[in-house]
Amino acid sequence: MNIVTVNDKSPEEFTTWVKTYKEATDIPLATTPAMYVGKAPKLKNMNVISSTKVSDEDATFNVTLSVKEKFKSGDLLAIYPANDHRERLYSIGKVNNKLQLVVKLHEFGLGSQYLHQLVEGTSIKARIVKNKAFHFPSKAKKVIMIANGTGIAPFLGMIDENNKNVETHLYTGFRYHNSITKKYESFAKEQININHLKKFNIAFSREEQKQYVMDLVKQDAHFIAETLQNGGIIMVCGALAMQHDIEKVLEIICQEHLSKTFEEFKMNGQFLTDCY
Ligand SMILES: Cc1cc2nc3c(=O)[nH]c(=O)nc-3n(C[C@H](O)[C@H](O)[C@H](O)COP(=O)(O)OP(=O)(O)OC[C@H]3O[C@@H](n4cnc5c(N)ncnc54)[C@H](O)[C@@H]3O)c2cc1C
Repeated sequence: MNIVTVNDKSPEEFTTWVKTYKEATDIPLATTPAMYVGKAPKLKNMNVISSTKVSDEDATFNVTLSVKEKFKSGDLLAIYPANDHRERLYSIGKVNNKLQLVVKLHEFGLGSQYLHQLVEGTSIKARIVKNKAFHFPSKAKKVIMIANGTGIAPFLGMIDENNKNVETHLYTGFRYHNSITKKYESFAKEQININHLKKFNIAFSREEQKQYVMDLVKQDAHFIAETLQNGGIIMVCGALAMQHDIEKVLEIICQEHLSKTFEEFKMNGQFLTDCY
């Protein structure tokens, strides 16, 4: 049989495959899409504390929610904007005990348009998906965080909550040096002052001196190698394409500086990712 893709968990598209499979195998399978609608997840009410809007200079916005249930930075918020099977996930930052999202607005995007239209004082139904594999490492001596764009979301929370002053370095990449990225700069400055963050590195890909976050990582190759060698943790959040590029850079760094493969550190649980 040919491969069939199922978009957005669609019961109708899944049924198309079921019908073909049924015909090919003679197995008497039900072909009513309603049979294949998953169990509706339990959702909680969450209050919208604040929400910003996109502008000509930046296509990202923030949403802050108050939530009764326990959650951590690095967990995910699952929303169902059309009250059906279509689910959208967003990385959570816990800032001032509130749930904060950094979202990129997509034209005609189901989830991002829904979040962008939220009004302060109203509430939404959503659920928290625990994402243990991307929590701030409790025992690490040194943490290197790498993000591009909206990938900064969980790190804002992890840094805000770094009361144990674990040595943390943040590498970020954005398009423009605009009011939003200036806010990240002043956030980082405050966090450096209270020892929650050791160093903040920022690259802009559409400003005069074009730079990507990988370039910043390459510049600090020696430090990155030393951190991995001493058991430090590298966390990456943002675009999948960026993760692939970062992994390539880390592979070269490990081979050149440590004569080891990056795979060894990955296997050792020193590389955590939340990319999409
Ligand atoms: C683990 C994880 C964490 C994530 N964290 C974040 C985060 O912190 N912040 C964030 O912003 N995103 C995050 N995402 C991505 C997020 O889940 C959504 O994928 C993203 O917001 C786009 O969803 P959407 O519903 O707005 O757009 P969709 O409705 O999925 O559409 C995506 C794009 O496709 C176009 N499109 C849709 N249908 C069609 C069609 N039929 N023909 C042509 N074009 C079409 C839309 O116009 C849009 O531009 C995360 C994803 C994962 C998996």
